[in-house]
Amino acid sequence: GAPHREFTGSDPRAVLKEVFGYDAFRGDQADIVEHVIDGGDAVVLMPTGGGKSVTYQVPALVRAGTGLVVSPLIALMHDQVDALRANGVRAAYLNSTQSPSDRAAVERAYLDGELDLLYVAPERLSGTATTKLLQRGKLSVIAIDEAHCVSQWGHDFRPDYLALGDLDERFPGVPRMALTATATRDTHRELTERLRLPSAKHFVASFDRPNIQYRIEAKVDPRRQLVAFIRAQPEGSAGIVYALSRKSVEQTADFLSAQGIDALPYHAGLPAEVRAANQGRFLRDDGVVMVATIAFGMGIDKPDVRFVAHIDLPKSVEGYYQETGRAGRDGEASVAWMAYGLGDVVQQRRLIDQSPGDRAFKTRLGQHLDAMLALCETVGCRRQNLLGYFGEASQPCGNCDTCLEAPDTWDGLIPAQKLLSTIVRLQRERNQAFGAGHLIDILRGASTDRIRQQGHDSLSTYGLGADLSEQDWRSVVRQLLARGILVARGEYGTLALGEPGAAVLRGAEPVPLRRDVLGRGGSPARLRK
Ligand code: ADP
Ligand code: ZN
Repeated sequence: GAPHREFTGSDPRAVLKEVFGYDAFRGDQADIVEHVIDGGDAVVLMPTGGGKSVTYQVPALVRAGTGLVVSPLIALMHDQVDALRANGVRAAYLNSTQSPSDRAAVERAYLDGELDLLYVAPERLSGTATTKLLQRGKLSVIAIDEAHCVSQWGHDFRPDYLALGDLDERFPGVPRMALTATATRDTHRELTERLRLPSAKHFVASFDRPNIQYRIEAKVDPRRQLVAFIRAQPEGSAGIVYALSRKSVEQTADFLSAQGIDALPYHAGLPAEVRAANQGRFLRDDGVVMVATIAFGMGIDKPDVRFVAHIDLPKSVEGYYQETGRAGRDGEASVAWMAYGLGDVVQQRRLIDQSPGDRAFKTRLGQHLDAMLALCETVGCRRQNLLGYFGEASQPCGNCDTCLEAPDTWDGLIPAQKLLSTIVRLQRERNQAFGAGHLIDILRGASTDRIRQQGHDSLSTYGLGADLSEQDWRSVVRQLLARGILVARGEYGTLALGEPGAAVLRGAEPVPLRRDVLGRGGSPARLRK
C-alpha cells in the first residue's frame, strides 16, 4: 500500500482529496462528516451508491483513535481493507476466517494506536473478549453499517445486531453512526431505538435512483420473457438475474447459455472456487450475466451493472429496492425488470405459514408480501409507489413502464364500495373488525364456520361480490391498501378505512384497477388477453 500519512486534526476536505481522490463532498456527506467529527451521533439513510463509506472513513481519519466499522459482510471486509490500504489508510479486520497469529497482529496494531480503521462482524461484539480488547485502546467513531439488520420486523433481521444496543455504555463518549440503504419509516424508528441513538442527528437522502427504469410484467413464459428482455438491452450489458432457489438459478443459467448469452450461476451451494471464479468473471469481463440467489450482490462493487432482473417475486419491497439498487451505481441508464406470477405468491404464502414465529410476525411478513404485490399491481408510477413505501413523496417519473405506457384498467369502484361498506357496517353495527380473508368470504358468500357463528350471512353485502374470484378480491384489497384507501392494523392485519375511504364510498374518488394482475381468469397463462 501507499505510505501512511497522519490525518488527525486535518481538514476533512483535504483528507477526501488526498486519501480518496475526490474533489468535493456530495449531498449530505460534508454535513455528516462535520457533525461526527464534532462528536455527534448520526443516523444516515442513503441509497446504494450514495457514498456512505466516506462519511465514516473521513471522521475515522480526522478524529484521534481507530474507527470501528461493524459490517455483516465478512466476505467484503478483505476487499474493503485492501482498497483502503492501497490508499495509505491503516485498515484491518477481525473475523472468524483469520488465523490466530493474524488476529494477534491486528490486536497489537490496534492497541499500539496504529490503526485508522478496524472492521468487525457484529457477532464479534456479542461476546466480551472483543469489547475488552477495544476498551483497552482508543476508538474515534463507531459506524454500524447495514443498520436495518437490527430491525426485527424488517426484511433482513440479524440477531447479532441486537447486541449492538449498548455500545453507548461499552464505549461512552465515542460518536456512533448507523448507516443503511434501506429503511421504511418503521425500520428507521426501530433502528434508532434499538441502537440507542436518541439524540442522533438524522440525515435522510432521497432514495430515488432516477437512472433506473422500473419494469414489471406478469409471468407467462418466464424464461422466454427473460431472454427477450436481455436481448433488448444494449450489446455487452452486464446484468444480474435473481431467482429464489438454487435449482432455478442453475436451470436459468443453463437456459441462457444455451441461448448464446454469457451467463454464469452463483449461489451458496456452489463450491467456493466456482463462486469466486464466476464472481471474478462478472467483475472483470464485459457483458456477463450473473444468475444468482440473493446471496449474491450485497456490497459487490460493480458500478456498471446495466440491469437487474427478477424472475421470482422478492419477499419485500425493501429487498426489491436493495437488489434493484445494484444496477447503475455509475449513474448511467439502467433497467430493473421483473416477471411475477401467481405461483410466486402461493409459494411465499406457504413459506410464511410454515415459518417459525408468532402470529404478529407472520402478519408482518404477509404485509411485506402484500406491499410487494401492490407495487406490481399499481396503475400509477412504479417509482412513486416505491418511494412512497419509504415515506417519500414524489411526482410520476415518466421513466417506468406504467408512466411510459398506461396499463389496461377496469373500474374497481363498485367492488371497492362493497368491501368498504362491509367494513363500515361491521364496525358501526357490531363493533367488529376483520382481516382480508374473512371479509372476502363474506363478499363471496362463503359458508364457513366463522360466518355462521358470527351470523355474517345476514349482512346486506353477504354474497354481493361472488362475481370476483378470491384472487381478484385479494388484488383489490392490495391495491386499496397501496393507495391508503384501506389500512391494515394490529397483529391480525384487520382492515379499516383510510383517509380517502369516505370519498370512495361516496363515489367521489375513481378506483381504476389493473387488469393484468394475478388471478384474473385464474391462470397466469391467460393473463395476456
Ligand atoms: P454506498 O456505500 O452508499 O453504496 P459508496 O460509499 O460505496 O456508496 O460510494 C459509491 C460510489 O461513489 C463509490 O464508487 C465512491 O467511490 C463514489 N463516491 C463517494 N463519495 C464521492 C464523492 N464525494 N465524490 C465522488 N465520488 C464519490
Ligand atoms: Zn413512473
